[in-house]
Amino acid sequence: MDFTLSKEQQDIIKAAREFALGEFVERAQEFDREEKFDLSIWKKACELGFIGVFIDEQYGGAGYGFFEHCLITEEFWAVDPGIGQALTSTTFGSELIIMYGTEEQKRMILPELVSGRAIIGTAITEPDAGSDTASASTRAVLDGDHWVINGSKMFITNGTIAKWIIVFCLTDPDNPSRHGRHSFIIVDTSTPGYEANKLTGKLGIRASNTTEISLSDVRVPENNLVGERGKGFYQLMEFFNRTRLHVAAQGVGVARASLDEAIKYAKKRQQFGSSLSSFQAIQFKIAEMATRIKAARNLYYEAASLADKGIIDHALIAMAKWFAGETGVFCANEALQIHGGYGYFDEYRIQRLYRDAKIVEIYEGTKEIEKTIIAKALLK
Ligand SMILES: Cc1cc2nc3c(=O)[nH]c(=O)nc-3n(C[C@H](O)[C@H](O)[C@H](O)COP(=O)(O)OP(=O)(O)OC[C@H]3O[C@@H](n4cnc5c(N)ncnc54)[C@H](O)[C@@H]3O)c2cc1C
Repeated sequence: MDFTLSKEQQDIIKAAREFALGEFVERAQEFDREEKFDLSIWKKACELGFIGVFIDEQYGGAGYGFFEHCLITEEFWAVDPGIGQALTSTTFGSELIIMYGTEEQKRMILPELVSGRAIIGTAITEPDAGSDTASASTRAVLDGDHWVINGSKMFITNGTIAKWIIVFCLTDPDNPSRHGRHSFIIVDTSTPGYEANKLTGKLGIRASNTTEISLSDVRVPENNLVGERGKGFYQLMEFFNRTRLHVAAQGVGVARASLDEAIKYAKKRQQFGSSLSSFQAIQFKIAEMATRIKAARNLYYEAASLADKGIIDHALIAMAKWFAGETGVFCANEALQIHGGYGYFDEYRIQRLYRDAKIVEIYEGTKEIEKTIIAKALLK
């Protein structure tokens, strides 16, 4: 497959990197330590057109593909994963609206996301329903022309800052198939009964807003249903087939940042009368990191370019997501090792990268779930 980037794609990368270097570097440590974020950076990112580039021009987007969204994500994560996630997750859920939303829903939501007027999120996970998404029990019942939603959601990105959260609800509990029982419903977070609390104490990506949500008799119009009733599980799988590409790019970004730090430190640090970079054991680490990064990037490049051509290869997407997560964790670990004791302190950027990297192996399908998907496709 030819992975040569067009001039436009190269320009996108350059612009994203320049923006991230200019806006992230000074604030990254502060946001990490204080678990906060400055939404003015998001407003600027929207003004410059970095947010939701895969959204159609008719809704205010750039009309690019997921591939370009991934390129931006990789650059942002290569400068700072926490801020990268805080920014690029602001459209998390727009993919559902694009694929299944009504024209009215698209016009209501998509232009707001790209113009920096609103943030969205998607709530699937519950305290007792993680990898087994089909066991989600947040209940939505029709009462006249409104859904009434009750339940709780866990680890939800953007819960306290989003204008809308798309909630994965149990609407058809009596359907004989456990994959025919759920639907996505848009909840305006100003609706009475919606309550979100910010969770603190995260290992990494601490600039990103993570919350727990409680929904207590939340009434929303019937036409807030996204797509067909009872098809939520299948929509979720298609949603993940887009968002996992994005997560794969995150893994490559954090791996790249780790390699950069490793090279810089290995060249500078002297032991036994020479630089660390002169020792073969260190050179091998660097060679292995660079090779894995290349392989991980090629996987997501292929999966994302196919997706933009309408070819959804779910096993390839799962490979890209799993391998990029593992590459991020591997590279951050090796880079921290090269830093020795200094890497153990947050004065050094590698400590933050080491903490940030882990999430790529967890959210939007753990690495075990990704491997299960790959194996199922091979063994069917
Ligand atoms: C920072 C952060 C942000 C998040 N943002 C969102 C969000 O915006 N929206 C949202 O809905 N969710 C979000 N999540 C939730 C995330 O997607 C889940 O944490 C993840 O899917 C795993 O679910 P769980 O934590 O319940 O783990 P569990 O499903 O309980 O898994 C625990 C362990 O068991 C393994 N395991 C489970 N089942 C199997 C199996 N069948 N075979 C082999 N191993 C298995 C898992 O791989 C894992 O290692 C977020 C999580 C975090 C930490």
